[in-house]
Amino acid sequence: MKINPNKCVACGNCTYVCPMGAIYIDPVVKRATVNSTECVECYACFNGLSQEHLNPTIVRSMRKVFQWMRLRFDPEPDVCPTAAFEPDPLSWPRVVRRAFSDPRVPHESTGVEGRGTEEVKTNDISGRVKVGEVGFTIEFGRPGVGVWFRDMQKMCWALAKAGVSFEKKNPVTSLMSDIATGTLREDILNEKVLSAIVEIMVPVERTEEIVRLVWAVEKEIETVVAIGVGTRCGEDGEDTVVGPVLERLGYNLQRAKTNIGLGRITNRSAEQNYAEMARK
Ligand code: SF4
Ligand code: SF4
Repeated sequence: MKINPNKCVACGNCTYVCPMGAIYIDPVVKRATVNSTECVECYACFNGLSQEHLNPTIVRSMRKVFQWMRLRFDPEPDVCPTAAFEPDPLSWPRVVRRAFSDPRVPHESTGVEGRGTEEVKTNDISGRVKVGEVGFTIEFGRPGVGVWFRDMQKMCWALAKAGVSFEKKNPVTSLMSDIATGTLREDILNEKVLSAIVEIMVPVERTEEIVRLVWAVEKEIETVVAIGVGTRCGEDGEDTVVGPVLERLGYNLQRAKTNIGLGRITNRSAEQNYAEMARK
């Protein structure tokens, strides 16, 4: 993201909308400036503010005149008065930032917008999490902290070492150069994104081990980590296997999303799994 210094009138409106705090008024040039290292290309500044097309010279002059009179001339808070934002076309690997940070951009690997994964929201038809399994979503960077891929790599390495299976239809997995070791592509490690999700599947017996592993790695990386857990309920709609483990680990469980079984399975292996379940 770029701000045209010839257009910016340093009203400061954009500094409040940047989730990364990457926009600041440079006291030397007296213009809003983007810290490109911290900018995750979410486009919240460009899309979130209405772009007006006032003449920058006139606006600056008015602001000066009003200042002399000890008054203020400020644009409405949701406006960039001079349409000073001029996004650069993004090339690889920087384009990865936008793919993970702008919720309106679909991921090439999955076609899903935002962080690019359906997680277990569509488990009824995808059958990602099968009977006897737990699907973990390990979410980095939210809210408003962001995450570097080099930090996510540390988590992926630890998970791979523990022998978990990474969800193939997940954008972070699609950026791995070696899925067996959880190694991400070298050229994206110094890219930062607003948030991202790693998805894994393990047998239910490994729930506690995985939570403890995530806790340990979280301490070594500079971001926030949230754990989501997806599992299958019994016929009465209750979970008596995974929930008690999580409660014992100190979590106050809140059920967030429930698939109620109205979807039709489209995944062959999951279909076989259901057939097995029915036989039992
Ligand atoms: S909103 Fe526009 S004019 Fe105001 S500081 Fe930001 S870029 Fe400059
Ligand atoms: S694109 Fe997003 S992160 Fe970058 S400066 Fe704009 S609001 Fe901040």
